[in-house]
Amino acid sequence: MSNQFARRMGTVHRSFIREILKVTADPEIISFAGGLPNPELFPVEAMDRASNEVFTEIGTSALQYSTTEGDAGLRALIARRYADRGLEVDPDSILVTTGSQQILDLCGKVFLDRGDKVVIERPGYLGAIQAFSLFEPEFVTIALEDDGPSLEELEAALKDGAKCFYAVPNFQNPSGVSYSLEKRKAVAALMDEYDALFVEDDPYGELRFMGEDLPFVYSFSKKKGLLCGSFSKIAAPGFRIGWVVAEKEIYDKLVIAKQAADLHTSTVSQLIMRRYMESNDIKTHVGLIKERYGRQRECMVEMIGRYFPEGVTITQPEGGMFLWVTLPEQVSSMDLLDAAIKEKVAFVPGKPFYVDGSGENTLRLNFSNSDEARIEEGIKRLGKALEAMLD
Ligand code: PMP
Repeated sequence: MSNQFARRMGTVHRSFIREILKVTADPEIISFAGGLPNPELFPVEAMDRASNEVFTEIGTSALQYSTTEGDAGLRALIARRYADRGLEVDPDSILVTTGSQQILDLCGKVFLDRGDKVVIERPGYLGAIQAFSLFEPEFVTIALEDDGPSLEELEAALKDGAKCFYAVPNFQNPSGVSYSLEKRKAVAALMDEYDALFVEDDPYGELRFMGEDLPFVYSFSKKKGLLCGSFSKIAAPGFRIGWVVAEKEIYDKLVIAKQAADLHTSTVSQLIMRRYMESNDIKTHVGLIKERYGRQRECMVEMIGRYFPEGVTITQPEGGMFLWVTLPEQVSSMDLLDAAIKEKVAFVPGKPFYVDGSGENTLRLNFSNSDEARIEEGIKRLGKALEAMLD
């Protein structure tokens, strides 16, 4: 059987995170492993009303096939939200996608031939590594520093012929790191200079609980790349609605790839999301999410300070859903996970986020999906497992 599989399947693995999630299904385990938004904040009633209105007022066409580009009203609302964030976007340059994850697959189809060099952050978003891997590129990783990517490493990669750079400049998954203003400008300038494509993935940008909002890298570049967004973290992931902003030449190619993949994003999902936004102030809703995640992040940082031994460092995310832990050099986070599961707490070891096999002593903690009591108890348990390993 195995010789019937396409060559590309040989290099791709099941998502390690999804495997860990099976273990953490045990309700006694406090899990900081998943990347899930907090379901207590899903706008269930407002969505219920929106969906009723869609079925009673729009009826059959909500259940019909629709255009690949996406619902015009929804795209206009997305453009208006960008305007609120200081970016002018033409609704016709927005392509609605089946989650922002689909954009990564479309990017692979449109831009990547086997062996093409793709730059990603180190550590990088696992879903992008998985999506791009199916196109058999050569990954070039560049260090993610506290204020963004190493510009020296980025320039070296571009000089060496890299075609594109995929990045998450706001509250990155997995590290929680955000790019400084200076690095945003510098990245845009380098991408322009080397005529390479910047793929800016921004599912977390609106979830800032401290510090000031910063402009998109996209806004500084002359040669516009792709700007990706999603409703998953600001409303609910179950709708599977994301979008990408692209210039016409690229847009048309993405539309062809999307037609081939799934014709269009669910009509009914799009119409319910549109109606939800027309009848509710999504900004107020995002405010509630920020308030909750901000408190949970504070609590996690405080508890780490209290319960983790010396020699462990963490990032200080100003938003998003994750923080990143670096253990002393000799400690393997895979070994720590075994000990942690015995203490009934879970996290994601850092290694899968590195394509070069490094990152052994790192791990990702999610703070969006546990309340403060569980965060305190979970970090205490993890601290205990860590202490035992360091003894
Ligand atoms: N990009 C990043 C950086 C993410 O963390 C995620 C979700 N984990 C996605 C894209 C995909 O999100 P969705 O398809 O739900 O929009």
